[in-house]
Amino acid sequence: MTDAIDAVDQPTPRRKPKEPITTIGGRQMKPSTLMMGYGYDPVLSEGSLKPPIFLTSTFAFENAAAGKRHFEGITGKRAGGAEGLVYSRFNGPNQEILEDRLAIWDGAEDALSFSSGMTAICILMMAFVSQGDVIVHSGPLYAASEGFVARVLSKFGVTYVDFPAGATREEIDAVLAKAKAQAEANGGKVAMIYLESPANPTNALVDVEAVKAARDAALDPSVTPIAIDNTFLGPLWQRPIDNGADIVCYSLTKYVGGHSDLVAGSVSGAKRWMDPVRALRNTMGGIADPNTAWMLLRSLETVELRMQRAGENAAKVCEYLRSHPKVEGLGYLGFIRDARQQDIFDRHCSGAGSTFSLFIKGGEAESFAFLDALKVAKLAVSLGGTETLASHPASMTHLSVPDERKAALGITDNLVRISIGIEDPDDLIADFEQALAKV
Ligand SMILES: *Cc1c(COP(=O)(O)O)cnc(C)c1O
Repeated sequence: MTDAIDAVDQPTPRRKPKEPITTIGGRQMKPSTLMMGYGYDPVLSEGSLKPPIFLTSTFAFENAAAGKRHFEGITGKRAGGAEGLVYSRFNGPNQEILEDRLAIWDGAEDALSFSSGMTAICILMMAFVSQGDVIVHSGPLYAASEGFVARVLSKFGVTYVDFPAGATREEIDAVLAKAKAQAEANGGKVAMIYLESPANPTNALVDVEAVKAARDAALDPSVTPIAIDNTFLGPLWQRPIDNGADIVCYSLTKYVGGHSDLVAGSVSGAKRWMDPVRALRNTMGGIADPNTAWMLLRSLETVELRMQRAGENAAKVCEYLRSHPKVEGLGYLGFIRDARQQDIFDRHCSGAGSTFSLFIKGGEAESFAFLDALKVAKLAVSLGGTETLASHPASMTHLSVPDERKAALGITDNLVRISIGIEDPDDLIADFEQALAKV
């Protein structure tokens, strides 16, 4: 009897998770290996091989002292910051595992997840700008990013200076000088250099190494971070931190999520750059929800496989399309014709991606005939999913862009935007062949 009571009273020993490892036999493990386990130990969750989805709005403290300690960390009354989980607007187990794994892909110290790519980008920018500041950005940007700078931040006294994606070091120097003068006149600073490479839909690449050299020469690198939207080639084919960027952001909706079944975003970089972004996310909300974070953990296990296959498929499809009599040209990073762009590609990219522009001989009518005849590829905006998608930027995503700007960006009526998926490449070629026959 007493034995039974004693057994019940015996506190169960707290099971300790194993320390995560990143090396084996003196070897640094690759991200594709770490995606299966890093940051999660089944011992914490009844042995469940996969992390459960933690649907909770708040987290219980072990005792009052632990609660006090946590809030001392948050408020800065104790150095070292807050540890542990407290409330689901700030963090959660699924999001923390996801963020640890996203940081691995980018070679970053820290990462933050968001409810969409645009939430990530807007909170990132807002975390660094004050009234009078200037943002320098490459152009074109994803339309909503460009709009946020030009139409939203402008309401708070933030101005911008932009430069074309392919700009040379000299051109970037001139733009930074102009931005510096503008910031001084407005009583502010150059708050951020924000890049997107390759640019959509031109696929023009930004020379991140040249931007870093120009920034280091003209501005204080501890004040003006270089951020880059790496949605089109990351995390596999471009690692901008290696080229001198400080902050990398993503629409995880695209290749990282990869199944066209979720919307999410992320920002990664050194802790010192992430801390203000985290603080603003804590205030505003916008963290990815637990279910989406879990889906992304699933996606990260296959991101390398999927991107490799999509990249190989795109190379085969583009090889077929390049000599087709009804094709005027291709905007594909595997067939760069400009020597300077090729040089940037060779220094920054390890693959040509699977999103490209197809220029069909003719105009809107011919493009529509092609799009309407596709049987495997689906007619939809977005990119980076398992399935092949095709769209017509001039009449869809870029319909509201003024004609003059469309012409400057090369968004013509015969441009079809294609994102190749992981289907069988010969089936895709057969689909494009029969659709081009209908043009
Ligand atoms: C889709 C996209 C975004 C926006 O991401 P959402 O997840 O849709 O909010 C930002 N940048 C690029 C390059 C994109 O393709």
